[in-house]
Amino acid sequence: MDIESKLTDFPDGITAIDTDYVRPQLDASHLLLDHGRAAFVDTGTTLSVPNLLAALEARGIGRDQVDWVLTTHVHLDHAGGAGELMRHLPNARCATHPRGARHLVDPAKLIAGSIAVYGEDRYRELYGDIVPVAEDRMFVPGDGERISVGRRNLELIHTPGHALHHYCVVDLDTRRIFPGDNFGISYRDFDVDGRELIFPTTTPVHFDPVAMRSSIDRLMAYEPVAMYLTHYSQVLQLDRLADDLKRRVDELAQLARSLAIEPDRASRLRTEMFALMSAWLDAHSYPGDVAERHRLIDDDVELNAQGLEVWLDRS
Ligand SMILES: [Zn+2]
Repeated sequence: MDIESKLTDFPDGITAIDTDYVRPQLDASHLLLDHGRAAFVDTGTTLSVPNLLAALEARGIGRDQVDWVLTTHVHLDHAGGAGELMRHLPNARCATHPRGARHLVDPAKLIAGSIAVYGEDRYRELYGDIVPVAEDRMFVPGDGERISVGRRNLELIHTPGHALHHYCVVDLDTRRIFPGDNFGISYRDFDVDGRELIFPTTTPVHFDPVAMRSSIDRLMAYEPVAMYLTHYSQVLQLDRLADDLKRRVDELAQLARSLAIEPDRASRLRTEMFALMSAWLDAHSYPGDVAERHRLIDDDVELNAQGLEVWLDRS
């Protein structure tokens, strides 16, 4: 395996690892190293674990130096690999939100839910076999709970909006934040002359636009210098991105509301969401053609549409 091609190093001991989920630069795990101790933030899937272990080896970090596996939330592209990864890390604890922890200890519900969405074959292809995390190795942080990695202090804050079982990781010493999915999606494919594009992710089943906006404000209140998104890694233009993100949360919610009682709601929501997201790409001067846009955002259009429909039915 050519692991170096899957690693990107950033300041302050941060390395992004491509988890090889679906396509390159879609899903990242981040490795944080400080004074010989390490943490992973998000894990990708069970099938991603060889990349994570190879990253440790490539950076000269022993498996026994990893103190934490931090799962921002239990969606499988973030935490599906936690159980398998923990088997290789003798000293690590797995930190998971109080509302998500039981699903990693007993992943039956996660597995059934994913098979329902993807079907058995596609599920296996995407996620492999999900391994439970031993309950006595689970750490369940309260809101604002602090942990350390080496001499680095991390604050774990509960951030609903994308999922009720979501927390974000704030590095208090460097003001770098690992927001999971609560600061949206910014694929590097969409960088134009160094400018980053961002859009929200409204995946089922807990999307809440009001909570998402206040979670974004809560993150920005730390005056971060950079964020490390799971999809995909470092973004720096945070003031503009936060504004874009909050406006786009409202635009997606508004689109869903405008179609709430239409008989062909499902298909129109998907068609009009693609058009809306394509307009965001146009405003960003993204040059890719329609086929390229479909290739890069169709999965997000589908997941966002599903999540918005669940939200409409709930509210
Ligand atoms: Zn998610």
